[in-house]
Amino acid sequence: MTGEHLDVLVVGAGISGICAGYHLQTSCPDRSWAILEARDRIGGTWDLFRYPGIRSDSDMYTLGFSFKPWTNAKAIADGPSIIAYLDETAREHGIDRRIRFRHRVVRASWSSADARWTVDVERGDARDVVQLTCNFLFMCSGYYDYAKGYTPEFPGVERFRGRVVHPQKWTEDIDYGGKRVVVIGSGATAVTLVPAMAKAAAHVTMLQRSPTYIISLPGEDPVANWLRRHLPTKVAYGITRWKNVLIAMMIFRFCRRNPERARALITRWVTKELGPGYDVGTHFNPRYNPWEQRLCLVPDSDLFQSMRQGRASVVTDQIETFTETGLKLRSGATLDADLIVTATGLNLQLFGGLQATVDGARVDFAKTYGYKGMMFSDVPNLALAIGYTNASWTLKAELICRYVCRLLNHMTATGTRQCTPRLRDASIGEAPFLDLTSGYIKREIQKFPKQGSKIPWKLYQNYARDLLMLKRGGVEDGVMEFSNPAGATRDRESAGLVAAG
Ligand SMILES: Cc1cc2nc3c(=O)[nH]c(=O)nc-3n(C[C@H](O)[C@H](O)[C@H](O)COP(=O)(O)OP(=O)(O)OC[C@H]3O[C@@H](n4cnc5c(N)ncnc54)[C@H](O)[C@@H]3O)c2cc1C
Repeated sequence: MTGEHLDVLVVGAGISGICAGYHLQTSCPDRSWAILEARDRIGGTWDLFRYPGIRSDSDMYTLGFSFKPWTNAKAIADGPSIIAYLDETAREHGIDRRIRFRHRVVRASWSSADARWTVDVERGDARDVVQLTCNFLFMCSGYYDYAKGYTPEFPGVERFRGRVVHPQKWTEDIDYGGKRVVVIGSGATAVTLVPAMAKAAAHVTMLQRSPTYIISLPGEDPVANWLRRHLPTKVAYGITRWKNVLIAMMIFRFCRRNPERARALITRWVTKELGPGYDVGTHFNPRYNPWEQRLCLVPDSDLFQSMRQGRASVVTDQIETFTETGLKLRSGATLDADLIVTATGLNLQLFGGLQATVDGARVDFAKTYGYKGMMFSDVPNLALAIGYTNASWTLKAELICRYVCRLLNHMTATGTRQCTPRLRDASIGEAPFLDLTSGYIKREIQKFPKQGSKIPWKLYQNYARDLLMLKRGGVEDGVMEFSNPAGATRDRESAGLVAAG
């Protein structure tokens, strides 16, 4: 690979990388490209996480790709079905042949004189470094650190005689059959784990410091399944996809505009699930308003069902210390456990740990502003596929993939080789890149780029708006600067290719 040059280098072979591959080969067939993937399999998140019950928490009609209908009857799918879908997509379109596994991208240096990135890649276990160059770097590297999940420092954890495991490090040998399990946390991972483990464990306790909004939806979408029986697959998929996009947008908007009514509705649903005697006020009535943090979704009430059956329960309290036999809580209560699962979150990381320089100066992404939620002020020819926080990831990731192709084709048409978003409007205010109040976001948002107060620097987390901006909006918007290396311009001028002046 040493000395190799590619037009586009895609980093990561998860949902976004596969999507990038599809659009590059469909819309930019004359470009050379490859996907470098640090792991030895495709799928990213869906290959990494192996904990019991792993599943999507958004519907597969919007988490799936627009070009590959999701035809499984289940709308909320388990991890292995998602991996099978991704594998099939990559194989069908020959994207699998473009992936180089066990290639970790660690450094990238942009040279404006050459209008290209020089990229350092660590290969295999030996981590020998090889270099290649590319014109465009497309980071499809996800949003968290693959090495390790987040675990707070728990006092006394070394005293505990049972096993402690983070869901990101789940291994198949973990036996919880007939055991007493405590799951710490009440986010998407915890509410997936609890009903799945409750099927075999003696009892599962979900221990939360504070409650989360949890709503149940049917695991199968009857409208989608009806449409698939009566219409051609692609038509049925397209209709279901739009139906679900609109429903998710309406729920988000309703919650943000009518927080009290949304809270009352959710409380009523949970009370209906758990019965009037259950203390919903303590365990399911969060301190924040609905959709200030991601709403947790459970399919077919599985969590509530395991609670009704007495196989699982929720405790709202704080850990004072781990003990030899479990946990001692601030209230004085104790929880005995054989296995404690720390579903305490992820360590956020954008750009897959990449260290980047532009013309010799280190890029501190935290000082940059996101442009259209996908490129960064003063960083040329680099895009990041990052999805929505309030809808399926793929909806935005795919818009970004299409936009990158439009950008590349525009540069070909205009004979330019560098595109750099420039923030020159002094009236643009600054805001955090993500506006959710979740602990894992607040903990690390200062490491993220910022967003601005106006388009194209503002992130709306709204598919309809993004569709207009990224699919229909002009690539030349007065903010993106298209240029050529000084030398190249001179050469082209003398060859009569570019009008001088
Ligand atoms: C447990 C869990 C459940 C989720 N459920 C949902 C859901 O239901 N709906 C939803 O919309 N979103 C969900 N998400 C968010 C989820 O991450 C996205 O849906 C989506 O899978 C992200 O795809 P991606 O390809 O962008 O990133 P990832 O899946 O994270 O893939 C990134 C890939 O890039 C590789 N990589 C990273 N850095 C480098 C590097 N430097 N060099 C080479 N390779 C690198 C990684 O090894 C990985 O394979 C979930 C996340 C988690 C953790």
